[in-house]
Amino acid sequence: MLAQVDGPPVVGIDLGGTKILTAIVSAENRLLGRAKSPTPAQQGAAAILRAIVETVDNALADARLARSDLAAAGVGSPGPLDVETGTILFSANLNVRGFPLGTELSQALGCPVLVQNDVRVGGYGEFRMGAGVGFRDLIAVFVGTGIGGCVIQGGRVVTGATGNAGEIGHIIVKAGGPVCGCGAHGCLEALASRTAITRRVNKAIRQGLPTLLSERVARKGGRLKSGDLAEAVAAGDHVAVKEVRRAAKYLGLGLGSLINVLGPEIVIIGGGVAGALGEPWVELVRDAARSQALVDPSGKIRISLAALGDDAGVLGAALMARERFLAIA
Ligand SMILES: [Zn+2]
Repeated sequence: MLAQVDGPPVVGIDLGGTKILTAIVSAENRLLGRAKSPTPAQQGAAAILRAIVETVDNALADARLARSDLAAAGVGSPGPLDVETGTILFSANLNVRGFPLGTELSQALGCPVLVQNDVRVGGYGEFRMGAGVGFRDLIAVFVGTGIGGCVIQGGRVVTGATGNAGEIGHIIVKAGGPVCGCGAHGCLEALASRTAITRRVNKAIRQGLPTLLSERVARKGGRLKSGDLAEAVAAGDHVAVKEVRRAAKYLGLGLGSLINVLGPEIVIIGGGVAGALGEPWVELVRDAARSQALVDPSGKIRISLAALGDDAGVLGAALMARERFLAIA
């Protein structure tokens, strides 16, 4: 059983490299107000803290509440983190190092603050309010610019001895494969993220293969959005179809391996790529995962699309904070 919780509203904060999302969540898990603002990622820790507080104030105004009404705050942050002290040890996206966000935000808002990895809180949001409701053993994976993951066992997020475990994007699925943002070769993220697919599409264009994406890639300086890929796939573009299938295969291999180790009840797939390519893409991932999953011969383990979209992070952060600080024993 989950701890019973009660009491006044909490705020969930999703701190990303480009935007800050906040939502005020009632004790009954209703969303009372929300706000969004750009992250001043080039301006340092003090500016980021000010922007967070301002965005929380805007969400409180939207909910017709004040800071003094808040019982707790939860932040989903890029990491690595020291979750005990709420410190962001290092973040390239935010340009900070050793930023004691938890302590400083707690002083500013006048309530306890939990800081947890952004993807782990997103997975927790899906577990408590999205595609994972009713399950206790889950794997959530979010495929976008990178690949993030969250493992939940017995209703608890598995974060390991260091508090930072759950990095599904950095399991190796191809020895000696392409270099990953983390420096290793052949990580799942380097083969199945939007960044990985885009790199392959650019390579195909350089090789002179015809694709509807050439013009778009040229216009966007080599970049693609998930929606661009989805459009090209829908139009039957050979390059797009091939690369998207390839990414699905590697994602399925990674997830199949995880299924063999963890035996979850459900695997939830979210993020921009999954959202744009939808169920047909998940079907490809499912096929590859099942071909790998020894522990599930009858195909009982569900592999489903995420349900909450961008709200997973704020909801997960809010609920995690409430359960940490307000649980009734
Ligand atoms: Zn990696």
